[in-house]
Amino acid sequence: MREFIIKQDKIDLQKNKIEHQETLFSQANGLIGMRGSVDRNIDESPGTFINGFCETHKIKYGEKAYGFPEIGETIVKLPNVFDYEIIVDEEVVNLKDKKKVENFERTFNLQKGLVKLTFDYTLKKNKQIHVTIDKVVSFYNKNMMVGKFVIQPINFTGEIKLINRLDFNIFNKESKDDPRVGSQNTSAYIDIQNVFSKEAFDVIEIATKESKQYVDLMIAYDPYAGEIQKEQFVNKCTCQTITSTVKAGRVFEVEKYIGLYPLRGLERTVKISDFHEKAAQNFSNAIENNYSFYLDQQVSFLDEFWEKSLIEIKSEEELSQGLHYNLFQLLQSAGTDGISNVAAKGLSGEGYEGHYFWDTEIYVFPFFLMTNPEIAKELLKYRYNILPEARKRARKLNVKKGVKFPWRTITGRESSGYFPAGTAQYHINADIAYAVKMYYEWTGDFEFIKKYGAEILIETARFWCEVGHFNPMRNNQFTIEGVTGPDEYTAIVDNNYYTNKMAQRNLEDAYGIYYKLPSDTKRALEKKLNLKQEEILRWEKAARHMYLPYDKTLNINPQDDSFLSKKVWPFDEVEKEKYPLLLHFHPLVIYRHQVLKQADVILANVLVGTDIDLEVKKNNYEYYKPLTTHDSSLSPCIYSILAAELELPDEAYELYEDTVRMDLDNLHNNSMYGVHTAAMGGSYLGIVYGFAGVRMIDGQLCFKPTVPSKMDGYMFSIHYKGARLKIKVDQDRVVYQLMKGNSIKFKHKNKEISLEKVGDTLEL
Ligand code: BGC
Repeated sequence: MREFIIKQDKIDLQKNKIEHQETLFSQANGLIGMRGSVDRNIDESPGTFINGFCETHKIKYGEKAYGFPEIGETIVKLPNVFDYEIIVDEEVVNLKDKKKVENFERTFNLQKGLVKLTFDYTLKKNKQIHVTIDKVVSFYNKNMMVGKFVIQPINFTGEIKLINRLDFNIFNKESKDDPRVGSQNTSAYIDIQNVFSKEAFDVIEIATKESKQYVDLMIAYDPYAGEIQKEQFVNKCTCQTITSTVKAGRVFEVEKYIGLYPLRGLERTVKISDFHEKAAQNFSNAIENNYSFYLDQQVSFLDEFWEKSLIEIKSEEELSQGLHYNLFQLLQSAGTDGISNVAAKGLSGEGYEGHYFWDTEIYVFPFFLMTNPEIAKELLKYRYNILPEARKRARKLNVKKGVKFPWRTITGRESSGYFPAGTAQYHINADIAYAVKMYYEWTGDFEFIKKYGAEILIETARFWCEVGHFNPMRNNQFTIEGVTGPDEYTAIVDNNYYTNKMAQRNLEDAYGIYYKLPSDTKRALEKKLNLKQEEILRWEKAARHMYLPYDKTLNINPQDDSFLSKKVWPFDEVEKEKYPLLLHFHPLVIYRHQVLKQADVILANVLVGTDIDLEVKKNNYEYYKPLTTHDSSLSPCIYSILAAELELPDEAYELYEDTVRMDLDNLHNNSMYGVHTAAMGGSYLGIVYGFAGVRMIDGQLCFKPTVPSKMDGYMFSIHYKGARLKIKVDQDRVVYQLMKGNSIKFKHKNKEISLEKVGDTLEL
């Protein structure tokens, strides 16, 4: 199973390459994450992150207007907890000195969740050592990271020192001119409040300066490894040195245990003293288990994950490797506690400041829904938990009822300083509502809807009725003005097709679900939200009369009311180096042209396109494809999905290739700042929505599989209402097999299929 291993076999000292590797080898468990450091002499931007652990800062504007968000949030970069140094007979081992290094290899085993670094090193007087360093960020106990150092003198007996350092001279990255890189602020975000030793471990209590979030960092070492010496907080560094004299051929082994216990903004109901006490107790229990215990647990956790997330592309090792890597990174990125989510860069880097976007619901969530629905549920619960902030934000925007979810956020407050491509993306409300309904359709979990989902659907539907109106200039159809759609190269326009179509779906789902609720839940929600019957009728009317731009002559959906009257971007005149356009042109230059950063109408055709005439979808595809730069990594996968639906499988394949190895091959040249979780989710959707043609039509699961000629076939399994179905598609046949659950009904093309018991197989 080579495609499950990511391997680096040489040290490249170019800054970009080092940072790219740091991202690729980043390890996380949805709560804590660390960049893949290799050696402190080489590392460029190592660090540790905690999902949702953030600092606040005042957003600086040149000119400010009413309602601009005042406070921004940034994920806090903590020291690299795996910062180490090896000293042999007073000589420092330095991997930068490449001549001294042989057999260097770093592997990321995605089945074990283990990063292993091995190398041989020649010291002065031809003394040789062999080193292995293992790192695990535990899925079994999400507060824990464990590691093991094995150092072997080959041809001498000598004194070996392992220094483990925590360097608190650490800053978040500054953004300079690229809005995708990092924060605007480089001041130190954290205060060290307390440092002490407790029984067998050391504790460092940390707090953010403004947001007053806390994290207790705890470290322990195998007490029998050697003699331990500690140096606390000299120059904001702590060092623990473990020393042993080791005979030739014998090994010096040190196990390392790190616990990170956060108290974040959305969990601040606990008393601080209780929190510290509980954290220490939890760590004390956690270190009763050793490294090999954690490794075993990691492997069994991942066995289950891979069984549920089965996916392969036949005889395409590179693509399968890309896919597996992407799914693994998604697992690493996803908050599973209902108070954190999936940052655009996961926990692999500080790009986009650790913010959560619509990327989650539209790109990442479906993967979890179809493989690990319990994680999908937690992601939606996070949105439920930030409803109070979203309500406040709506009021700020003069919206009297309902919510406005933030475009970018961590704790729920809007953190986007550039409203044309931020707050104005109202569609995020409909995207979240879409995911809620999708969750219900795929799981049948009505309890969730009653407790959380219905409120999200209602509050988002209300928003549309507040901002849109029945427009006499448009035959009294329902129109929505002054919005930005997903394509960020067109801003503040009227009637963005995607927004209106998704808003229509949001309104339909809100009243659809409302009517299904038992009367006590209805009453409770009406009371809590002061919801009136007239409002529900208005949702129905707005949905029925939603204005959806359509151009008769071209037989396409214009992206918005003004799009077609703009000049086409001068593609022939603009050099390749000027892309992505956002880094080379003032937004106004871009906004006055027909040019797309990413899929917009096409995305609507994919998500809510089952009632759209195929001819119109085809024309949309042909019209928008040449205008789309794909400057956003969220784009090619969506075009690939529609291409597959339009029976252009080879075109779909080419677009798919651009998505699936985006981070492994650094295709956008910015993986240094973190992985692209949305594109990773898109690589899953490219197979499932794309080649396999999975759609939910009138509440029924439907497949319409195709295989591009360049591919031999593919297979995957999905969860649907408690059942697990495996689908294997080859050039000449499709096989469906029920793997788990009672029975399953679905459609293959137009044929109704029902598999009744586990093992039932149908070949077509
Ligand atoms: C895209 C957005 C996306 C964001 C974070 C931007 O470049 O245009 O659609 O949400 O990146 O991934």
